[in-house]
Amino acid sequence: MSDDVKCIIGLEIHAQMKTNSKIFCGCPVDNNAAPNTNVCETCLGYPGSKPRLNRKVFENGVKIAKALNCEVPKNVFFSRKSYFYPDMTKNFQITQYEIPVGLNGFLKIKWRGEELKIRIRRAHLEEDPGKLVHVGGDITTSKYTLVDYNRAGTPLIEIVTDPDFTHPEQVRDFLNKLRAILEHLNIYDSDMIMKADANISVKGGERVEVKNITGFASIIKALEYEYNRQRIMAKQGLFIKQQETRAYSEQTKTTKPLRVKESEADYGYIFEPDLSWQRMDDARLKSIYSRMNELPDERVERFTKEYKLSEDSATVLVYTDKALADFYEACAKTFKDYELLYNWLSTHLLKCLNYNNVSISKSKVSPELFLEFMKEIKSGCLSERLAKELVKELASTGKPIKQIMKSKNIKEFSDKDLMPIIKKIIEKNEKAVADYRMGNNNSINFLIGQVLRETNFQAGVENIRELIEKVIK
Ligand SMILES: [Zn+2]
Repeated sequence: MSDDVKCIIGLEIHAQMKTNSKIFCGCPVDNNAAPNTNVCETCLGYPGSKPRLNRKVFENGVKIAKALNCEVPKNVFFSRKSYFYPDMTKNFQITQYEIPVGLNGFLKIKWRGEELKIRIRRAHLEEDPGKLVHVGGDITTSKYTLVDYNRAGTPLIEIVTDPDFTHPEQVRDFLNKLRAILEHLNIYDSDMIMKADANISVKGGERVEVKNITGFASIIKALEYEYNRQRIMAKQGLFIKQQETRAYSEQTKTTKPLRVKESEADYGYIFEPDLSWQRMDDARLKSIYSRMNELPDERVERFTKEYKLSEDSATVLVYTDKALADFYEACAKTFKDYELLYNWLSTHLLKCLNYNNVSISKSKVSPELFLEFMKEIKSGCLSERLAKELVKELASTGKPIKQIMKSKNIKEFSDKDLMPIIKKIIEKNEKAVADYRMGNNNSINFLIGQVLRETNFQAGVENIRELIEKVIK
């Protein structure tokens, strides 16, 4: 993508929050339950039913606000957003509008070697409506529509940024960081839903809002498409003259115009009278903050100190997937060659899992199994070529390494096994031995190669080197 035309992007991100029960009632949250089984008077919006605030969900909102460097107002309110739609039987959604849980924060990202500060305008909590199921088609083509209220009352966090992004790539880095923060706070799993509305404009044109883009990858694709569309138009002197709302299509990977809906003012917000405001005094904030998990940036810093990893390596572990960093730490408890562990985990095992399209948390390889493999590597008895084959097998079968080696007829070469081979090679190659003794260090590599060949490339190079040096010195 050429970067010659500057663009401005602002985001509204909605993420599902990990929780056992809904935000305003005690109904369980379970995506696999039969339709309309996890419901009660409150989430069905019966007249006279009253919401009760789920304290844990609320505190998670405060933790998110803190992690995004937001101010938490002294009194936090909930509001009613009025609208009529079959997925919301009360005819209003409980959300936060005037005084949300977080205000005026920021998140720093690194982009092309530069540090950027993306301002967070607000973070607020709200309930998800029910789910409409358009049977046999979409909203315009289906014969009839079913409503499942299991989802009604599931907590969402909405995060609104200022228009501080100047390139779609920055959005990717920002979302990646946000995802890692929510994962570390134990509020979000990577298989949960993240949606976004994005405002995007290029210099000289009005802004276009792309609504309701679902999923991490689609958000980036939609913005790249829209940036390119406006950029090409701008180059031809065509600018967006009027603010426009568009939708992103997963099928065509393009955006198309959408009917313009109500503006925020049309919703007639009022404070929710059935929920008391939340007083956020210092003692309460302190208590919530003291129960916060370690955040990703703190973890990166700890990894550089505790495991002596470079900042880049620590960043790969923490920001690729929280589960990868957890896996690394589980192994590092007993395996103390931290660099070697990092290399085999983040390069070789991860490559195999990616190839099989499996995430580390869903893979068959447990830290215990991987540790057994790492012990084989560390013993020096395996050649690198063989170890790479074995890690492939480990990733796809999840079998203990000893079992894999046995099934492949792989012999482990102990010093006792190697010695006769080394002696034979040394006898056969007097010239290389003499060269080495004369100070030609390259000739030992030739000898190692010969021994490796004899072991069918199954013995470890470092082990062979040590033994050869012992014999000919
Ligand atoms: Zn309920």
